[in-house]
Amino acid sequence: IRQVAEQARGISKQEKAIIEAHLMFLADKSLKAKISAKINDRLSAEYALKQVIFEYVDIFKAMDDPYLSERSADIMDMGRRVLGNLMGINEDSDQAFTRDTILVASDLSPVDLLAIRQPNLKGIVLAKGGRTSHTVIMAKSLEIPIVIGVEGLFHNVRANDYLIVDGVSGFVYPNPKSEIREEYDRRRQETNRALKKMEGLRDLPAVTSDGFSVRLGANIGLLSDIMLAQQYGADHIGLYRTEFPFLLRKSFPTEEEQVDLYTRVLEKSRGMSVTIRTFDVGGDKFLSYLDYPKEDNPFLGWRSIRLSLDLEDVFRTQIRAILRASAYGKTKILFPMITSIDEIRRVVKLVNEEKEILDKNAVKYDRDIALGIMVEVPAAVPILDRMLRYVDFVNVGTNDLMQYLLAVDRNNKKVAARFDALHPSVIATVDQIVSVCNRFEKPLCICGEAAAVKENIFLFVGMGA
Ligand code: PEP
Ligand code: MG
Repeated sequence: IRQVAEQARGISKQEKAIIEAHLMFLADKSLKAKISAKINDRLSAEYALKQVIFEYVDIFKAMDDPYLSERSADIMDMGRRVLGNLMGINEDSDQAFTRDTILVASDLSPVDLLAIRQPNLKGIVLAKGGRTSHTVIMAKSLEIPIVIGVEGLFHNVRANDYLIVDGVSGFVYPNPKSEIREEYDRRRQETNRALKKMEGLRDLPAVTSDGFSVRLGANIGLLSDIMLAQQYGADHIGLYRTEFPFLLRKSFPTEEEQVDLYTRVLEKSRGMSVTIRTFDVGGDKFLSYLDYPKEDNPFLGWRSIRLSLDLEDVFRTQIRAILRASAYGKTKILFPMITSIDEIRRVVKLVNEEKEILDKNAVKYDRDIALGIMVEVPAAVPILDRMLRYVDFVNVGTNDLMQYLLAVDRNNKKVAARFDALHPSVIATVDQIVSVCNRFEKPLCICGEAAAVKENIFLFVGMGA
């Protein structure tokens, strides 16, 4: 604060008084004593500071005098400033973890996870979150164990605790007894042995014992995911979420950058077909460089294809880049969150116009490139037969289909138990989609996390998906 005051020359008397008041507040003995007591109680300095600042903010806010009540904002500001210093946010630190680290946080956005990922990040525990949130999906593809929706997390875990994070059962053990550690060492070895054993199955065709063959695809978001898809024996990339590479940037990638990226994905996929989905932002994935309206319900708002169609230049650039990349490997284009025939018509028109432009300029691309839609908004289901006239294939986005059908936020821990792929309405809806697609002989795949659960796979395959 002193530095800021010194740098800001010519400040008014009033401003000077405010700064002095801030410094006086920070020099206050009882403030320090409160924070110290919490640190002695083994809270981290950052968390202790935050708690005490909030106590003061609440006291000031509750004051009848409007002048004093408004001082709560000053206290908040001071708190933030000190917190920033404590966390080194003002110092361009690269946040490198010097040893194996488990991240414990209230919540974490997919962008934060991308920014913070590093080899020493060994696990994540969040107080909030939902099973199909994009943070969880991304943690899976980075092979980082994650446990979400942990109650009482901050009362039970302290900085420098030793933690076991079991992403399979959803248990977190702070400072476990030696028996538990030994048990987990044993389980780890067992899991490794089981994985080794499954390696023998990996290259066998995915065919049931009565001869029904299943195409096994993988979802990817980052280039590095392709290696995992190959390692685990996927035969195609069923969904490439292109918004993930968009998230870490400072501006929309140019056409050339996108062509380069998609071409690299195709090359790395070594002959596997790749379904490239146009960017699906909004919902829980926000681009730092795009101005979003303040929305009460972002999942019901300016998201996905709606946003793409409104940003036509950006959308056209992406379509052109995908078309150009299609000259280098088997590519399909997939459009997310389609709700109406009108949207499909607009999308198909854009693709055709871009193809014409490429033709005029004699640029190579796959003229027969397949176009598909994600069926993930329930409104698409009753009109699916008519939608299929315009497209070549369907991906069922179970994550969103379930959230919109059951009115259960996919990221909300409070209702996570209601996010149920085996709800009769989900089963009936998927069944309806499968039978329409089979009737019109349009290829279909079941996408989303529900397709990664063994029991569900039996059901979907039994339906003829
Ligand atoms: C889905 O909704 O099921 C899906 C695969 O897409 P995303 O998770 O990216 O919304
Ligand atoms: Mg979706």
